[in-house]
Amino acid sequence: MEENRYSRQLHCTTNFSQATLSGATVLIAGMGGLGCNASMSLTAAGIGTLILCDHDTISISNLNRQLLYRETDIGKKKVIVALDQLQKLNGDPDFIVVDGRFNERLLPSSANPQLILDCLDNLPGRIELIAYAVKNNIPLIHAAVDGFMGQLSVFIPQESACPICSLAGDMEGADLPIPSLGACVAVMAGLQATEAIKFFTNSGELCINKFMFFDGLSGRIDTIDLERDHNCIACSR
Ligand SMILES: [Zn+2]
Repeated sequence: MEENRYSRQLHCTTNFSQATLSGATVLIAGMGGLGCNASMSLTAAGIGTLILCDHDTISISNLNRQLLYRETDIGKKKVIVALDQLQKLNGDPDFIVVDGRFNERLLPSSANPQLILDCLDNLPGRIELIAYAVKNNIPLIHAAVDGFMGQLSVFIPQESACPICSLAGDMEGADLPIPSLGACVAVMAGLQATEAIKFFTNSGELCINKFMFFDGLSGRIDTIDLERDHNCIACSR
């Protein structure tokens, strides 16, 4: 078998199609810890187009978990540094950079995501992002972290519960900043990227109508069933 950049992943499942991945477009909302790690995994896997969205600049307290950034990048725009690092990681994907808090109006007309990764850390932004997903019928993979804990859920608009449908799933309280351990952020971002690749290659079973909870302290992963709330402030609008 000829070796190339992707030869080790081609036989992960019988459905695995590199051509499908290479034709896929993913919007990553938030280039913090989750966004850095997830974008690295998807770039390395050869996703066709990544849309990187963030408004923020790099600060010293980002560096325990936001692995695309270096000490020399402090003060620079996250999306600009992320673009440079990801292009060095793999020259195959195309990238679209959106410098600002996620808002549909900021997306160029050329940006037509087939999947959204919710890598945000705040409830208002997440509600805006889910509303965009519903309006445009785009599936969304949510993850969030709090210290050694993490959660994940896959949302299919009009079909399944969104991460806001259950208040039990809201990990963003009033007291910011949220404790955030880089190793656990990497676990949750890895799970997000795994669900994304499963989605595009039609492999396995997605975490739909469920919350997956990772507890790094006990080393356990549990799931609970989610029910769609038809009065949800995010997905029923
Ligand atoms: Zn909802």
